[in-house]
Amino acid sequence: MREFELIDRFFFQETQKEKNVVLGIGDDCAVMTVPQGHDLTVSTDSMVEGVHFPRGMAADKIASRALCAALSDIAAMGAEPRWITLALTLPEADKNWLAAFSESLHHHLKRFNCALVGGDTTRGSLNLGIQVMGIVPKGTQLTRAGAKIGDVICVTQTLGDGAAALALLEQREVLRQPAQDYLERRFYAPEPQLKAGVILRRYANSAIDISDGLLADLGHICDSSNVGASLDVEKIPISSAWREQVADEKALQWALLGGDDYQLCFTLSVEQLALLRENNEIALTEIGNIRAGSGINLNFEGRPFSLPQNIDKQHRGYQHFD
Ligand code: ADP
Ligand code: MG
Repeated sequence: MREFELIDRFFFQETQKEKNVVLGIGDDCAVMTVPQGHDLTVSTDSMVEGVHFPRGMAADKIASRALCAALSDIAAMGAEPRWITLALTLPEADKNWLAAFSESLHHHLKRFNCALVGGDTTRGSLNLGIQVMGIVPKGTQLTRAGAKIGDVICVTQTLGDGAAALALLEQREVLRQPAQDYLERRFYAPEPQLKAGVILRRYANSAIDISDGLLADLGHICDSSNVGASLDVEKIPISSAWREQVADEKALQWALLGGDDYQLCFTLSVEQLALLRENNEIALTEIGNIRAGSGINLNFEGRPFSLPQNIDKQHRGYQHFD
């Protein structure tokens, strides 16, 4: 199969005017209209076989995981996804692989009201680059830099699922059903918190998505906002699907240090939190407070808490050039 035939067959989509696409796949660039009163948000993610996902992972799962993880950055800004481009490097043009990959990609794109407007296709070892583009009403984007002293720190849903799933897939951990099914679903299609992000525009002072682990990502909020944080680690929500099957210490390490959760961590004033709770718009758990200073203090039921000194590397947020 030739390159253009491949693009035509698996990736071409009719231009979607309702998504403000003036010109989609087929020309040198795509052309889109940003609706009046909005700004464009853009982010790129790379997914390399053997680094971001295990070798031999099924094509449909690669597509869903890559897209969902990429869209998590759009959620963290409080933006709404509109368009993506896909840079795809493949060892061979395997029709079955491409059919499964593109079907899954289009399925999830539709779910998120998003259009594939262009890309690039090359031969090499399997890797994909997804650029996601979204829109946000001018001046309303959530950032890492807005946390204020006295803010409450919250997370959307359970943490540690990403690390638990990876441990399961790499056979470092044996878990019973239905924990296995739950974690595999979370790993292959982590749900980007897009609805929560849009709602939080009206309440939160700062937000980030948890891709490198809570401590690492909350640390980014602290650094960008010039504040410190205190966490009550016993409050961190951990899924009951696997909690009982894993030692307390490990569960907590996964929740604090494990990456790939794709939940939002956000901060907001006590008043805004009360309002958000009253309106009951999103699931959330309070896990700590923003304070003056820098760094993150950990407390367990009111007492200072520290993580063991020599934590396995696999429990830490991923650093590519460590
Ligand atoms: P150029 O050489 O001008 O960069 P290409 O020949 O690489 O363009 O691509 C032709 C068209 O197909 C372009 O509109 C490009 O955006 C699109 N395209 C290429 N690969 C993909 C892909 N994997 N998914 C979606 N669109 C793609
Ligand atoms: Mg060109």
